[in-house]
Amino acid sequence: MKALEKSRPAEGLWMTRAPVPEVGPDDVLIKINKTGICGTDIHIWNWDEWAAKTVPVPMITGHEFAGEIVEVGKNVTGLHVGQRCSGEGHLIGKHSRQSRAGKFHLDPETRGIGVNEQGAFAQYLRLPAFNVVPLPDAVDNEIGAILDPLGNAVHTALSFDLIGEDVLITGAGPIGIMAAAVARHVGARNVVITDVNQARLDLATKVADVVPVNVAKDDLKGIESKLGMREGFDVGLEMSGNQAALDQMVENLVMGGRIALLGIPPGKSPVDWSRIVFKAITIKGVYGREIFETWYKMIAMLQNGLVVRNVITHRFGVDDFEKGFAAMKSGEAGKVVLSWT
Ligand code: NAD
Ligand code: ZN
Repeated sequence: MKALEKSRPAEGLWMTRAPVPEVGPDDVLIKINKTGICGTDIHIWNWDEWAAKTVPVPMITGHEFAGEIVEVGKNVTGLHVGQRCSGEGHLIGKHSRQSRAGKFHLDPETRGIGVNEQGAFAQYLRLPAFNVVPLPDAVDNEIGAILDPLGNAVHTALSFDLIGEDVLITGAGPIGIMAAAVARHVGARNVVITDVNQARLDLATKVADVVPVNVAKDDLKGIESKLGMREGFDVGLEMSGNQAALDQMVENLVMGGRIALLGIPPGKSPVDWSRIVFKAITIKGVYGREIFETWYKMIAMLQNGLVVRNVITHRFGVDDFEKGFAAMKSGEAGKVVLSWT
């Protein structure tokens, strides 16, 4: 089969031929239809410090996918050949304290497809049946291929009650933008999204009914008074990984405000913790998606009026994968989807 592989420890990815994976008794084989390119794939392409210490080579990359089941292992029930699906790319262990408590997303032995295990940028993917998420008609394959990052957005946005709340999202990357759409969908009052990249803020307004603020030029306090917010935002969703953004969030939150942190900072944080103490701010770290509560809620919302399709800005056939990665690296793209059929 065709597979997009990190074949050697150097910059780039290479289209290779790999054997179709063999399916174990508890696995299914998925014929891949569409895949999404993630920031993680860019780290792997670039072969930065994180990738070099994390990813063994050779490795088929990719973890955002939708496709169709073409084979089921002998122990698998409830799934059938021909079923359209996406799936959770975090493969969990079943032994840890949290896993045994049913909090699968908190298992410390989690391994990622396309990072630690052979991934989805291929014509076929083997996946444990446990990880499969069937897709209803309302979720087509290109949306199916971005459920992983939409799930990050949903997990973060649903961390706190947003009904009637004023929400600040820092970082208008694909996940921040989709989180804005989710916040609106569940009934937030004002949703303000910040970035320093105007193209991404423009994209945000094409996906969701949000107020964009370019914090490289404009003052957040000015927008707050324009929106009639006297004491600051109730909830912050940090989706940039940028420390100046987190600082600005703390500054602009109400007393007792809540922050969900998805963005991954580059190193130790220089944030002033005394302000967090004196403002009595609650901070929650968010990793991945709740397995499978996030998937359940995400698909239900997509069936009930949540629309995120405009976040997809580029579509390529997989033979043009280099164009897709170039679009991602430009920093101007939303989601980039590759078609395998
Ligand atoms: P992205 O890099 O595409 O988007 C981040 C955005 O933040 C960019 O548009 C950038 O211009 C913007 N930004 C930079 N400085 C800013 C500032 N001072 N104020 C406001 N915005 C600023 O990332 P993404 O793919 O949308 O992912 C969002 C974040 O979530 C990333 O940090 C990513 O590493 C992280 N992530 C975490 C998890 C997890 O499980 N915790 C999963 C996926 C992604
Ligand atoms: Zn991803």
